[in-house]
Amino acid sequence: MSLIPYSCQTIEEDDIAAVAHAMREPYLTQGATIGKFEGSLAAYVGASYATACSSATAGLALAYRAFGVGPNSSVWTVPNSFVATANAALYCGARVDFVDIEPGTWNICVRALRTKLIQARSDGKLPHLVVPVHFGGVSCDMKSIAKLAGEFGFKVIEDAAHALGSTFEGKQVGNCEYSDAAVFSFHPVKTITTGEGGMIVTKDARADGVMKVLRTHGITREASALENSSEGAWYYEQQALGWHFRLTDIQAALGTSQLRKIGDFVARRRNICRRYASEFSSLPIAVPSEASISQSACHLFPVYLGKFSPQRKRVFDELRVAGIGVNVHYIPIHLQPFYRNLGFTPGSYPQAEKYYVGALSLPVFPRLEPQQQTHVIETLRTSLSQL
Ligand SMILES: *Cc1c(COP(=O)(O)O)cnc(C)c1O
Repeated sequence: MSLIPYSCQTIEEDDIAAVAHAMREPYLTQGATIGKFEGSLAAYVGASYATACSSATAGLALAYRAFGVGPNSSVWTVPNSFVATANAALYCGARVDFVDIEPGTWNICVRALRTKLIQARSDGKLPHLVVPVHFGGVSCDMKSIAKLAGEFGFKVIEDAAHALGSTFEGKQVGNCEYSDAAVFSFHPVKTITTGEGGMIVTKDARADGVMKVLRTHGITREASALENSSEGAWYYEQQALGWHFRLTDIQAALGTSQLRKIGDFVARRRNICRRYASEFSSLPIAVPSEASISQSACHLFPVYLGKFSPQRKRVFDELRVAGIGVNVHYIPIHLQPFYRNLGFTPGSYPQAEKYYVGALSLPVFPRLEPQQQTHVIETLRTSLSQL
């Protein structure tokens, strides 16, 4: 039996037709399909502006820069994320620091954030930017984070790579009611895919304009934005050092097609997570609550093994041998050799470290068949019962 992956794209004939259509258009990149995808996604999440880019990693770097992150800034995020959340700050020349997570959601702990902010204020080291990560698709407490942003004067950019299709207080993640911007990923394991790709949404027109210039080398052709007078129709100016972070029209066509089906993708993911949650409710392990599932895009079904944590490797290996592509999200970023070389040490973020030791992500994706779900449920049950 082939391995059931922890997540997987859903590509249908209409997606393939949309890509084929895009390939017959005059522009394969920098064409009109990009703006169409940006408009559809902004409308879906309820944001004013959207900038498509080559990945969420690129999107995080663009957003950090556009909201003023530079060599003298510090950016705070959580250790329980993919390395890209922190790396993007280093690309901007900024310093990175971390805030511990809370048990249950495994998201940023607002109390730990507040404590760290009070200390930072007295040390004169307040962050320029805080980046909450919606782990597995469950939104962070954005209202409380926005309150702290007002009190301590920092910007908020959501790493919403897991959370396209999630809601907070009944509204789509990405509406930016409580943040300056949010960044989505279209990697094949995420809610919708463009192969590789990302999108930044914001309600800030200025920042959106900056991001659109920075994603194409820092070059502008817009007459009203030129510093010098135009020398002719060929004329353009590079006014800042940007990057080449564009998405192609082929990818944007796939994204637009995928976005039409997001309701179905999320509903299927939620149903699988609900089944897992109810099947595992009697086991002494921590799983997402019914309430959190109904507001999450269910990118992951993260299990915390609790007292079984010391046997996590055995459980992981048994599931893999049974053809189940379990995964672990995340090795705390500060424990990576690169970050240890920057001075971070084990023991600094005890909740993230404790979670990592017992973490296991079970397969969730729209086409995971009922009998495959049963196989996952029975294999995990058997594995735990033998410990
Ligand atoms: C996937 C992911 C990213 C990076 O997304 P890419 O599109 O692959 O660059 C960033 N942060 C988190 C939390 C992710 O899961």
